Amino acid sequence: MRDDTAISADILHWYDHHARILPWRVSPADRAAGVRPDPYRVWLSEVMLQQTTVAAVRSYFRTFTQAWPTVSDLAAADDGDVMAAWAGLGYYARARNLLKCARVVADQYTGHFPNTAAKLLTLPGIGPYTAAAVASIAFDEPATVVDGNVERVISRLFALTDPLPGSRPRIAQLAATVTPRERPGDYAQAMMDLGATICTPRNPACGICPLRPDCAGFAQGIAAELPKKTPKQPKPTRHGFAYVGRASDGAILLERRPDKGLLGGTLGFPGSDWGADPDPVPPRTADWTVSGEVRHTFTHFHLILTVMVAQIPTEPALTPAAQFNPASLPTVMRKVWDGAQPGICELTNDT
Ligand code: SF4
Repeated sequence: MRDDTAISADILHWYDHHARILPWRVSPADRAAGVRPDPYRVWLSEVMLQQTTVAAVRSYFRTFTQAWPTVSDLAAADDGDVMAAWAGLGYYARARNLLKCARVVADQYTGHFPNTAAKLLTLPGIGPYTAAAVASIAFDEPATVVDGNVERVISRLFALTDPLPGSRPRIAQLAATVTPRERPGDYAQAMMDLGATICTPRNPACGICPLRPDCAGFAQGIAAELPKKTPKQPKPTRHGFAYVGRASDGAILLERRPDKGLLGGTLGFPGSDWGADPDPVPPRTADWTVSGEVRHTFTHFHLILTVMVAQIPTEPALTPAAQFNPASLPTVMRKVWDGAQPGICELTNDT
């Protein structure tokens, strides 16, 4: 294997010609011409991209940056509006932390993100990965940035056969050895792009990869098997009830979940606890009937919800039909709404 400088130079050369065009990115040519990335856009994209694909993030990124063009605009936003704009992107703790972080940056840093990974790490919702990514991409700090794509590239480049997640410290160590001091921001993005477009999970395109001359995984013929992973425990299945109550004028019974916990701070339909054999707990006394069943998978468990529907008395706490937008609900609650439609149609026909 050649020295680390030659490897990073090859990756940067490849990036100069093949960088993906992304709405939050400053292209290598613009960067060379002196254009600096907006730390707010870098941070926002990195938070959105955690556990989510580039394709899924694009429209959310556009919506957020149009509604809140600066971190100070986001800091001044209404919590409910931000949660509604985030709906469907999942992992709602990220949206709550996004707001907290924006408010700290606006209040304590006069709307300017701190420019080192160490300081970024002190902000709400910013962990080691995001701190390194923002410091590197926005401020050209030679921080070691290791996301899933980089993990895969490094595992293959060095033919690491120890399984994830135990191999992470070694991967970080090796990733640091190839991170250059020149253009570290472009280098971090180049590694992400290489992992996303060439060194893909299945069938890596080694034939067109700039790292092939140095890649131990390729040389040993084991690249596609790496990184190895410790087998996951099967996910348990939980059950629950969700209640879609509508008044005769179409107004809907919704509730906002507590800030802490799964789906924290999001709007949805009331329901039971989720567990092995939960008790039904109707939120209002009414003639509840089963409308259907919906399934949803979270990170740690599968969920099966029995959807109950009923006509309920009108009351001020209900959300008027004209103000109800299913698109502002998290995905599992959108499924509940869809699952309620047959029952709601029957109610409408009966009454
Ligand atoms: Fe990945 Fe193949 Fe490139 Fe090695 S040569 S880094 S396995 S694409």
